[in-house]
Amino acid sequence: MTTTQPGRLAGKTALVTAAGQGIGRATALAYAAQGARVIATDINTALLDSLAAELAGLGPGHAVQRLDVTDPEAIRALAQAHPQVNVLFNGAGFVHAGSVLQCTEADFDMAVTLNVRSMFRTIQAFAPAMLAAGGGAIVNVASVAGSIKGAPNRFIYGTTKAAIIGLTKAVAADFITQGVRCNAICPGTVESPSLRDRIAAQAAASGQTLAQVEAAFVARQPMGRLGQVSEIAALAVYLASDESSFTTGTAQVIDGGWSN
Ligand code: NAD
Repeated sequence: MTTTQPGRLAGKTALVTAAGQGIGRATALAYAAQGARVIATDINTALLDSLAAELAGLGPGHAVQRLDVTDPEAIRALAQAHPQVNVLFNGAGFVHAGSVLQCTEADFDMAVTLNVRSMFRTIQAFAPAMLAAGGGAIVNVASVAGSIKGAPNRFIYGTTKAAIIGLTKAVAADFITQGVRCNAICPGTVESPSLRDRIAAQAAASGQTLAQVEAAFVARQPMGRLGQVSEIAALAVYLASDESSFTTGTAQVIDGGWSN
């Protein structure tokens, strides 16, 4: 699978959340490279500014727009402004470190709102136009850490990412005869700015060096390396495109063999 073949998303309009960096940014750029018109959103406008310049280099018509996925009014307004979205990529997600014993009520609420309720809200806002148009593709970023694999120190993260798989399957089942597909991507550990933040935080908390913490992340990947955002974006292109037209309600594991 490659993201360099042009035109696999020609004629489609794709809305991407958390497009500022990491998997979301790589996906927004891959969608544009494949001919989609991309509406790239993130809470961080500085990241969006630099993304806008990159998107412009891939062709005309792309847009960037600040969106906090925890803001239901902003989501509704965005859906009203863009009634022609065929592809919804829900990328926003947050990693909370800790076991069940370290999880506060506020931590739990925050993670559910950012990781899961955001997807309920974007799908509720954007699906009606897809249904009216007779088709669409929804791609939700979950994780292999969740219902596929329990990961230590990831209590709320795993809980919310498992919920995304249930949400994905429920949405797929409801729209299965109406042309709107819904699939989840379940990555293993992927090189990204937030992973670097987690490595730094874990090193500071444990007294280990950055290299030691990174080696522990790599060690759990049987391939002996981290995933790359381009590898996740390639799957996101496939799930958004008509090539995956017989695929819905799936949780696609892309983890370098971690859960194998
Ligand atoms: P990241 O965490 O480095 O970047 C996340 C982006 O989300 C940032 O641009 C940030 O500004 C944006 N964001 C944060 N809060 C937001 C909000 N309220 N509204 C809108 N945008 C907001 O990116 P990443 O590590 O590639 O992770 C992207 C997704 O992939 C997440 O859902 C994450 O849980 C999932 N994931 C990542 C990994 C990994 O190892 N990196 C593994 C499995 C799953």
